Amino acid sequence: MMDNRSGKGLSFVRRIYLPRIIGLGIGMLSVMAGISTLQMPPWVWGLLLFNGLIWPHLAFQLARRAAVPYHAEYRNLLVDSLMGGFWTAAMQFNPLPSVTILAMMAMNNFAAGGQRLFFKGLFIQGLGAGLSIALLGAGLQLQATPLQVYACLPMLTLYPMAVGWVCYRLAMNLSEHKRRLSALSRTDSLTGLLNHGSWKDLLQLKFQTCQQQHCQAVIALIDIDHFKAINDTYGHVVGDCVLSQLSNELKLGLREDDLAGRYGGDEFCLILPNTNLEQASLAMERLRERVGSYRNPQLPELRISLSIGLASCREGLADAQDWLNEADKALYTAKKSGRNQVNFAQPDLTALKLAYPD
Ligand code: GH3
Ligand code: MG
Repeated sequence: MMDNRSGKGLSFVRRIYLPRIIGLGIGMLSVMAGISTLQMPPWVWGLLLFNGLIWPHLAFQLARRAAVPYHAEYRNLLVDSLMGGFWTAAMQFNPLPSVTILAMMAMNNFAAGGQRLFFKGLFIQGLGAGLSIALLGAGLQLQATPLQVYACLPMLTLYPMAVGWVCYRLAMNLSEHKRRLSALSRTDSLTGLLNHGSWKDLLQLKFQTCQQQHCQAVIALIDIDHFKAINDTYGHVVGDCVLSQLSNELKLGLREDDLAGRYGGDEFCLILPNTNLEQASLAMERLRERVGSYRNPQLPELRISLSIGLASCREGLADAQDWLNEADKALYTAKKSGRNQVNFAQPDLTALKLAYPD
């Protein structure tokens, strides 16, 4: 069964806890000043102390223990609005504390539940005011004393800071999540290398800069020989280990600006910037030999060999796909000529022949 207590609703409840303690604690001061000039029965003072000091903790506990914390917290926010309306009428609509409370509540309701909670809150504030008038009678108090003015200042300064802080933290959290998600969407989960899509995006960029700036670059397509047989003989877990091992080799053995990706299945792809075919071919020979010399004491029979196709970025390539096709053809030739070797693409001679027939 899904556990609601650890769901999204609970973080909402936690996020509201501190601002509510601060908001209701200092909001209580404004209301105290607002009703201090009026004759109020003792239960009103008791209710005010309860609302300012105890309710934030009670609300938190109620929501925390609820089957669906989010719904319980929503109800708590409506109770806040009911009480806000109640205190506004109890202060006989004394303008400064009333506007202070209603404005802070509007900010709160907008931040927590958007327009819908804002309008619902307004309606419930009206109900709260009606309740207060029914119990305490109606009145209008339009003069604010200096004490009432000063008593509103903490609410007007500290509470927006608290809400701003909460919103800022939330925004930071979201941007961190966004950053992680975007990194995940660019990474192959098994090997931690770039995935097919993001490697191809980079290939596109590299192709364009190479064509514009006439710089050298080589792509390599690396395919494990008879990988299916490794899977069939030793199982997929060993197969996965071989893939990780090879990707580690690529991560550690390459230069910093080389770009390694997993093309798919048992095929890997590299972009080697500022490299000519000869240098790339030497580096790939070294890789092929290193991987070929792997021995695993638990699986003494296991051998890994690689076929590698290379193609350099040269003038005459129509686009990045064309470049990739050349590397793919070179890989195909390596496979056809017996595997376990590095092969590089020659410029397409048939195309040259068509251009310059003899
Ligand atoms: P060749 O020498 O011609 O490349 O032969 P091959 O057996 O390596 O070629 P093929 O492309 O037919 O086989 C690739 C196999 O890789 C097939 C598939 O089951 C396996 N494979 C693809 N992705 C994974 C993976 O993530 N983990 C494991 N263990 N195997 C995978
Ligand atoms: Mg293969």
